[in-house]
Amino acid sequence: MTVLVKAPAKINLSLDVLYKRPDGYHEVEMVMTTIDLADRIELAELPENRIKILSQSRYVPDDHRNLAFKAAKLLKEKYHISKGVAISIDKMIPVAAGLAGGSSDAAATLRGLNKLWNLNLPLSKLAELGAEIGSDVAFCVHGGTALATGRGEIITKLPSPPNCWVILAKPAIGVSTADIYKQLQLHTIDHPDTKAMVESLYQQDFKKICSHVGNALEMVTLGMYPQVQQIKDQMKRFGADAVLMSGSGPTVFGLVQYESRVQRIYNGLRGFCEQVYAVRMLGDEKALV
Ligand code: ATP
Repeated sequence: MTVLVKAPAKINLSLDVLYKRPDGYHEVEMVMTTIDLADRIELAELPENRIKILSQSRYVPDDHRNLAFKAAKLLKEKYHISKGVAISIDKMIPVAAGLAGGSSDAAATLRGLNKLWNLNLPLSKLAELGAEIGSDVAFCVHGGTALATGRGEIITKLPSPPNCWVILAKPAIGVSTADIYKQLQLHTIDHPDTKAMVESLYQQDFKKICSHVGNALEMVTLGMYPQVQQIKDQMKRFGADAVLMSGSGPTVFGLVQYESRVQRIYNGLRGFCEQVYAVRMLGDEKALV
């Protein structure tokens, strides 16, 4: 038997870092939403009792370091499953890009194995388990749009933004989230207005959403990689309604309301950047099933 699951990327409409906690994690406030750029995960039963990772991408580890492997191992241990599984990852989300590709693969693996192994666990339980693997996994288990607080694992559902296009441009560099947090100086942060972003979503006010996008990590990544600023400038110049770096970067996204502008912005960016995507918002969590 096999199960197919979709593992969509996320973008941060806003990302704030409040303070460093005694346990070493940063307390954050993030408004995140899933977009229609997704890895495809196939889970197939194996005759032998082991976890096997298959992926054609040379950037994805094929052993215990893979977040999908960690998800399967966690479920096996917690629920005493003595079955094997082959996890095939068809990688479409750029790696180390600020789009939570690895976390989404882990979340999709939890959702898929819940079916394959007939565990019947609620999403809230899968999200709780996911938080043991990584801070973004809990959000990815639910998908849709949410406010993530704590170290990112406390999820409060929010209405999804009004439908629009999302243009993504990733320069040819990978960014380590840990490195960006190391460089972050808390007293210099430009804090986004999370409350205003949440209100804008409830009001379904596209213009207001655009005026409140903000990312506290942007300053750090822009300082280290000037090419990210260049992409931001180009995206604005070509006419995106809002432009922001996602997560710790380096991917920059633009929100675009009118389809008539999408091709122009896409083509303009292709001149600067190898990896450019034009996708839709994914809307609510039903899209994951
Ligand atoms: P986030 O936005 O959550 O910080 P990211 O998008 O910046 O994440 P990922 O694409 O998740 O970063 O990859 C970060 C690192 O995780 C990679 O360098 C890779 O070695 C490792 N990794 C482990 N499992 C996976 C996976 N399934 N897909 C991609 N990378 C993975």
